[in-house]
Amino acid sequence: SATIAQRILVAGAGIAGTASATTLLSMNRDVTVYDARDCENLRTLEKQGARIIIGVNAPPNLLDDIDQLLVSPGFAPHHPIVTAAAIRGIDVYCEPELAWRLRTPEAASWLGITGTNGKTTTTTMLHAILTAAGLRSQALGNIGLPLVSVANGPWDVLAVELSSYQLHWSHTLAPQAGAIINLAPDHLDWHGSMESYVEAKTHIWRSGTAIVNLDDRAVIAAARHYQAHTNPDLDIIGFTLNPPDKGQFGLAEGWLIDANGERICPATDIRPSGLHNVANALAATALAYQVGATPRSAAEGLRAYRPEPHRNVTIAEYDGVRWVDDSKATNPHAAQASLESYDDVVWIAGGQLKGVDIAPLVKAVAPRLKSAILLGQDRGLVAEALREYAPRVPVAIVDSVEHSAMDEAVAAADAVASPGDTVLLAPSAASFDMYAGYAERGQAFAAALTRRKHR
Ligand code: ADP
Repeated sequence: SATIAQRILVAGAGIAGTASATTLLSMNRDVTVYDARDCENLRTLEKQGARIIIGVNAPPNLLDDIDQLLVSPGFAPHHPIVTAAAIRGIDVYCEPELAWRLRTPEAASWLGITGTNGKTTTTTMLHAILTAAGLRSQALGNIGLPLVSVANGPWDVLAVELSSYQLHWSHTLAPQAGAIINLAPDHLDWHGSMESYVEAKTHIWRSGTAIVNLDDRAVIAAARHYQAHTNPDLDIIGFTLNPPDKGQFGLAEGWLIDANGERICPATDIRPSGLHNVANALAATALAYQVGATPRSAAEGLRAYRPEPHRNVTIAEYDGVRWVDDSKATNPHAAQASLESYDDVVWIAGGQLKGVDIAPLVKAVAPRLKSAILLGQDRGLVAEALREYAPRVPVAIVDSVEHSAMDEAVAAADAVASPGDTVLLAPSAASFDMYAGYAERGQAFAAALTRRKHR
């Protein structure tokens, strides 16, 4: 089994890197922490005994006397430090993999969730079901809580969200069961291609039990490929928004149905609304059944579930116009799910497209758009797609990339929206060009709306 070496370089001093370094120091490892910029975390780690190295350009001798490299998500396979490590044959891995290598025999089992969209929703739904089933559970991982300091705690089972980055840098971790809830282009600049993005995601199936979205061709293709090339015995448990066959989870006559054909709860009980969230609920249920959940605990957990903010949430209504914050729609696939929940949409979009083509989304939702308001770094690319595939839709472009840009966008939306319309912030793009993250962007949207309506 994989080991943890003596001399470890931790690249990136964010939450996961810092938690990892602290843990490694407590295990008497020789820890070097590298980050492009100085920060509070680095200074704390230095006091704990880490050697720290700061600078945009890492020194050439950074990897001398290093046995293993623990990377943060910011370090893509083509990052100079990573390619240099590869040449030297250094084992490169990430924080969840470290947590797995540290896992004690009596520690909780892991249930893994990944996919392009709906990971956090599914992970927190799973936690709600596990809790209703009387299990001591914890939602961890990519949702923002590192595993390394918590995974060996007093839990029966962990709901673990894993990103494509984390899965790429995982070589042994093997949740008891792993779900891929959907697959669409995202983070292609990081992974280099759709193939390697999908390949990374399939690491979640390493234990051999796969929860698979039967309505998503890309997920099915990935499962077939995995069976053909990696594990012919992969056990596939499917979920679908159609009536399920035996052994599958699905939807029939408006009810969620389990693998034994038993009714769980009506789809109208699922929050947030939207069929994609019913799919998330089915994925969470299928995972929870692996550790003994029943129709009853699933129904109870899903009813008790409280949605996370910035995910297709109505934040206000003024004069018959609904204002919806889906700032978490950071790629076209996510934005499509919310755009398709409304008919007459004033769409606020733009930010960092991350190398993903937005044209297919624009084509698909053009009939619903009354107007589009664009902001952020890649606003020009979105405008181009609209000109080409939705020429009838009026477009306003906010050229400022200051924080006041959101006020301008909200004012422009307010000017064109009429009763019955939905103003939808579904950027289809990452937020880091203008904000610290999607949450800050969503808050900026709400604040701009409040300023406009209460001035
Ligand atoms: P993630 O953790 O994968 O980013 P979230 O649960 O935070 O996923 O949701 C991200 C965005 O994707 C939100 O905008 C949400 O409305 C949308 N979304 C959620 N579930 C799905 C799904 N199953 N398919 C498509 N879009 C989804």
